[in-house]
Amino acid sequence: MTLGAATRSFASNPKRHEFQAETRNLMDIVAKSLYSHSEVFVRELISNASDALEKRRCAELSGQAVEGPSEIRITTDKDRREITFEDTGIGMNREDLIECLGTIAKSGSKDFIEKNKDNAEAVIGQFGVGFYSAFMVADSVTVTTRKVDADISKGLRWHWNGDNNYEVSEEDGLPTGTKIVLRLKTGDSASYAEEERIKEVINKYSYFVSSPIILNGERV
Ligand code: ADP
Ligand code: MG
Repeated sequence: MTLGAATRSFASNPKRHEFQAETRNLMDIVAKSLYSHSEVFVRELISNASDALEKRRCAELSGQAVEGPSEIRITTDKDRREITFEDTGIGMNREDLIECLGTIAKSGSKDFIEKNKDNAEAVIGQFGVGFYSAFMVADSVTVTTRKVDADISKGLRWHWNGDNNYEVSEEDGLPTGTKIVLRLKTGDSASYAEEERIKEVINKYSYFVSSPIILNGERV
């Protein structure tokens, strides 16, 4: 019996993981102290995409085959209240996903955030808030990713639905790189699904990014 055709292009083997209590606690502090600066999530996700593209360049220089142009694509969907960040960078494997997205691992970050929780500027400036800034504005986050050296069938899907757990499953047929879909909260956060609003934020932060940023099909 062959399962080949039947197993293509959908997620399989979902595994549930619980955020560490400490991580969860920091996520709450970050969400509260940075609420009035929530737009920084755009800077953080662009900067991660840009880092991933830089790592792809290094992999390419050391002989790794890579696919497609090196770019960051952002799309907004007002009706669905979604914003998507997609890069053609290095991508992540299972360990990267669990290590990097499941914990706040940076040494010193915990103390720093706790000491400075009433000083949003300090937290934003001194400590890269990172991927978790997405949790301020989203009530669900889905990351699909495939690392440049991983087989086409070895892509992964990471999904968080707003609670204390996230799920990782396998997904076949993904391009290399990373795609992050944020389903935005209602209220103020929903404005990040509006093209004009997001363009304004991108323009504020994109000066440090060397790769092209494409918003809804047009170069920003
Ligand atoms: P930092 O960028 O300071 O390391 P983040 O919380 O922003 O912290 O990201 C954590 C880690 O998750 C990154 O170091 C990287 O390994 C991984 N990561 C996040 N976004 C991406 C992405 N778009 N592509 C590849 N890896 C990513
Ligand atoms: Mg980062």
